[in-house]
Amino acid sequence: MTTQECPTCGPVPDVELYGIEYPEVYDGVLFWVHGKCGTAWPRNADWEASVAAARAHNERGEGVSRSSVVPWWISWYTHRPLSEFELHSPWWVSGYADGEDGRGLTIIVAAVLAGSEEEAWAEVLGAFDEPRSDSDIKRRFCDEQPLGAMVADSIFGDRWPKAEWMAWSPQDGITCACGCERGEG
Ligand SMILES: [Zn+2]
Ligand SMILES: [Zn+2]
Repeated sequence: MTTQECPTCGPVPDVELYGIEYPEVYDGVLFWVHGKCGTAWPRNADWEASVAAARAHNERGEGVSRSSVVPWWISWYTHRPLSEFELHSPWWVSGYADGEDGRGLTIIVAAVLAGSEEEAWAEVLGAFDEPRSDSDIKRRFCDEQPLGAMVADSIFGDRWPKAEWMAWSPQDGITCACGCERGEG
């Protein structure tokens, strides 16, 4: 993994970066943005358009309101029925497993926005009906994703079909289309 220098934070890993694309520019990326702090910098300091675009991005303050949430792919086992679960973020049943105690487990995979791994798990646990406990879920994985690889609807496809209630636009903080406050507007 390579790193780049965020003007605000110093060296940051690629996973925290995303590129703002510019149509018809050679491979697309006009300037870089650090997803955690929102600071932009030019892809090439000698490239006038890149320098100007990065400066304009910072002046608009787009990063400031972007907050520090980033996308996570998260997966867990649960013995609780799906009817006791309502997560306002795309999620799918990925399979089934047998629990150590003989109970059947459902394997769920989801995309969530959160500021940290623990916040991502809190988001999942909070989606279960009360009463809930930490033992309702058994963690499988929780992987931070680059925002640039998780743009609007790019997560949906044959493997992870888009249900009608689903939406995903992490740059805008949109994770749902059920009519709740996680959606647009
Ligand atoms: Zn930064
Ligand atoms: Zn919703």
